[in-house]
Amino acid sequence: MKAKIVPNRLQETIDFALMNGLIKFNTSFQLVHAPFVLAPYSLSKDVLEKMVSLTPSFNDLMLRVASNQDFLTNYLEQASLTDSFIKGLMSIYLEKKSTQPYQFLLGRNDFMMVEDANYPKKLQPKQVEFNTISVSFPYLSTQLNHLHQFMYEEQPLGKKLVLNDPLTGIVDAIALAVQQYGHSDSCVLQIVQPREQNIFDQRGGEYKLWQKHRIPTIRMTLEEVAKEGACQEGHLMIQGKVAAVTYLRAGYSPGDYQTPDAWKGRRLIESSSSISAPSVAMQLAGMKKIQQVLTDPKILKNFVEQKKIQEISDTFVGMHLLDEMLHRNGQSDLAQKIACDFPDKYVLKPQREGGGNNFFDQEMVKLLHSLTKEEYPAYILMERIDAKEHQAVLVVEGKIQETSCISEIGCYGVCLAKEKDILLNQDVGYLVRTKAADQNEGGVCAGYACLNSLCIR
Ligand code: ADP
Ligand code: MG
Repeated sequence: MKAKIVPNRLQETIDFALMNGLIKFNTSFQLVHAPFVLAPYSLSKDVLEKMVSLTPSFNDLMLRVASNQDFLTNYLEQASLTDSFIKGLMSIYLEKKSTQPYQFLLGRNDFMMVEDANYPKKLQPKQVEFNTISVSFPYLSTQLNHLHQFMYEEQPLGKKLVLNDPLTGIVDAIALAVQQYGHSDSCVLQIVQPREQNIFDQRGGEYKLWQKHRIPTIRMTLEEVAKEGACQEGHLMIQGKVAAVTYLRAGYSPGDYQTPDAWKGRRLIESSSSISAPSVAMQLAGMKKIQQVLTDPKILKNFVEQKKIQEISDTFVGMHLLDEMLHRNGQSDLAQKIACDFPDKYVLKPQREGGGNNFFDQEMVKLLHSLTKEEYPAYILMERIDAKEHQAVLVVEGKIQETSCISEIGCYGVCLAKEKDILLNQDVGYLVRTKAADQNEGGVCAGYACLNSLCIR
């Protein structure tokens, strides 16, 4: 859907963004508006409904995977031999005496849209990944939706805009977990990186948690938790308060564990009864290796009711071990070799989160040639999703650029379980990130993608 680019309207959107907290620090740590798209991405109602309806099923799947220690250990053990980050997480995971009755997931299921082979006008969602840790932009995407409401209210497009407020859903889920924990003098401990470009997205959640539920948040790095935190009678004590919930907006990458103290902090959280979003188990369940294993229907059926298997699998693209046999264009060979012969058809992924870690095209070929057999299990190969392109006007640091783009849609899901009882499991809103079609990676803070909203065709 195309917006009229009227110069004074453009300035108005930027002013709106700045006034309403649609802001971040750029890579030079200057305060700028978050990159956004002028007009929402249009999608048919049935595709959106399909993705939204899958959120509780995927939440449930992740919960089941996270509670299966044999499964996680079996499939991540190999990767942990050559990947010291996975090894560190596994060692905390395996030493834990499982006393925590709660599992808490604040997740996001990310998809790209491809054309249906039989009906080119029909789009199908294909899963990029399911994020179980530090899902970002609940606040910024809510604010961006306000911007689009403001801009298009009096135009036909305004009626088609899909209203979006993942922030409330996430904050309410955290409040429910705090209430379940049931301690009168408690707080939420938010784990953060020391210099965070995306701090306002986190602040937005903190303030809402206070305004709506009168729950205070304490922000700390993992290292600070090691220094200032203590475990008393199972409770995680922070500045004299009980951390009922620990919400990790860091801890997903090796850069967050540069000192032994950072590992100590994570260990302390995990060994306490604080309800952690996520636990180490849930973080491991979100690994790309686990995503690859679950594309096998024989394995998936151990975690998903029969009637949901097809619907879930329909969103998957092929994911492979580097040393498995693959067939492409009449050629049969090791996946590693096939990917080198068809580099534009695959993505090579290590067990990392946070954007900018994957290998595409010739970079992928180069790495595939240099990897030793022992290093293979730390990576998976994923078929490249050939996402449908569309035109969009991107607004980045005050400048507009109209270009051919692809959009990635994430469904935020919240889930809280106490042992076998599911207390909450629902979809709470969406994220759209739109990027120029010639960009491989997709992060907003990394500078690749722009925030967007949806409108229904
Ligand atoms: P991360 O955990 O680092 O966010 P992702 O798996 O989400 O890793 O990949 C990062 C970005 O790379 C995605 O947002 C998407 O833009 C692109 N990407 C990932 N997988 C694929 C794929 N199979 N096909 C095409 N693009 C992909
Ligand atoms: Mg991602």
